[in-house]
Amino acid sequence: MTATSPAQYDVIVVGARCAGAPVAMLLAGKGHRVLLLEQAAVPSNMAHSTHLIHPMGLAYLEAWGLLDAIEERATSFVDWSIDLHGAFLHGAPPPFAGMARSAAPRRDILDGELARAAVNAGAELRDNCRVNGLLFEDGRVVGVQAKDGKGQSFSARAGLVIGADGPASIVAKCVGAAEHHVEPPLQSNIWSYWRDVPVDHLHITIREGAGAFAFPSSDGSVLVAANLLHGDFLRSRRRKKAAFHDMLRHIAPELADKLKQGTQVDRFFSGCTRSFVRRSCGPGWALVGDAGMKKDPVTAQGIAGAFASADMLAKAVDRGLGAAKTLHTELAEYERARDAWLLPYYNFTLRLAAFAKPSAEQAAFNHALATDPEGRSQLFGAVSLTFSPDKLMAPGNMRRILTRAALSRQ
Ligand SMILES: Cc1cc2nc3c(=O)[nH]c(=O)nc-3n(C[C@H](O)[C@H](O)[C@H](O)COP(=O)(O)OP(=O)(O)OC[C@H]3O[C@@H](n4cnc5c(N)ncnc54)[C@H](O)[C@@H]3O)c2cc1C
Repeated sequence: MTATSPAQYDVIVVGARCAGAPVAMLLAGKGHRVLLLEQAAVPSNMAHSTHLIHPMGLAYLEAWGLLDAIEERATSFVDWSIDLHGAFLHGAPPPFAGMARSAAPRRDILDGELARAAVNAGAELRDNCRVNGLLFEDGRVVGVQAKDGKGQSFSARAGLVIGADGPASIVAKCVGAAEHHVEPPLQSNIWSYWRDVPVDHLHITIREGAGAFAFPSSDGSVLVAANLLHGDFLRSRRRKKAAFHDMLRHIAPELADKLKQGTQVDRFFSGCTRSFVRRSCGPGWALVGDAGMKKDPVTAQGIAGAFASADMLAKAVDRGLGAAKTLHTELAEYERARDAWLLPYYNFTLRLAAFAKPSAEQAAFNHALATDPEGRSQLFGAVSLTFSPDKLMAPGNMRRILTRAALSRQ
């Protein structure tokens, strides 16, 4: 290699959080030469996302040997309480791979552990490095151009560039990845952190045009959030604190009262997103996590979904680079399998995020779910990525749940 020739890797991963760090870790662990590039400092927080992780996500953290470190800083919990337009559902979501717990570590803790694991597995991590373009040869992506923290430009080459660089993905932009299932932002979250507030599990309230949620987070703190329809959020974004307290008092007064017992320990944050699915592979490139599919956060599926997609992609790339089949065939199969799995959850999430007034039939079904343990478990599974919403909402399944609930009232 001359002084000016770019370094060569098997895989370059752009973005080192929930999707990028695991895919780099898994591929480096298989012996591939991986460069992991992140524009932020590692570890660092993420101001525009809450961070509830469903049992599926904790199962991946356990399998990767990271859960003990996470649980040292974040109290995990089992139960969920959901008030769905006045139907009260309490219980545990279905376990995934034997894991029944949920947790909500702050992102500097979670993403820091993930990045450390990637490095321990052999990936080369360069943080404070911003990718600003891709290298192409004969229509194929062959590498990246980037700038390091000192402003020095460099390039690196690889057989595959993975965009794990979030919704505004530079990789997606440079390859012109087409979007489908596009929806504008539906609802927005305003949240902060308190100490000494008696919340020991997940609480969610959903009403027409509004929502609220709370759960234990890291280092003894509790995250409490209000959900506003996006239009209401835009109108009140300059008075976040007042909008948060007004909403909480209005739809979750018990939670509002609990806050009075505690001390707020951080500022108010807010976030929202449009939703889309992107074509996620092509010659020399692939997308994973929010770069490939981004949906409203109301079901908190982003982190667990990113872990599972990273695992699916890493297996496909490992097989493809091992030339069992061609890399392109494996990547196309990854995208097909991801969409087949996640699109029902995507559609379900967007329906929930509209915070629409339920029809009489839907209201009756919500109340039936509250009295039917199997139905409730299915709903919790539809939120936590383990029970297909299409099965939950299948007419025959809804009829059975309604009938069981009616019989239980006899
Ligand atoms: C308001 C809100 C609340 C949410 N709440 C939850 C929740 O409670 N639970 C949950 O599971 N999910 C939640 N999500 C979703 C969750 O935040 C995402 O799904 C998750 O962060 C996706 O991880 P990722 O690694 O794909 O992308 P990101 O976490 O966005 O990471 C992408 C990384 O790429 C880096 N990057 C970007 N461009 C470049 C570049 N050019 N060069 C180098 N690096 C680059 C970024 O700095 C970033 O670190 C929420 C989202 C929102 C908007």
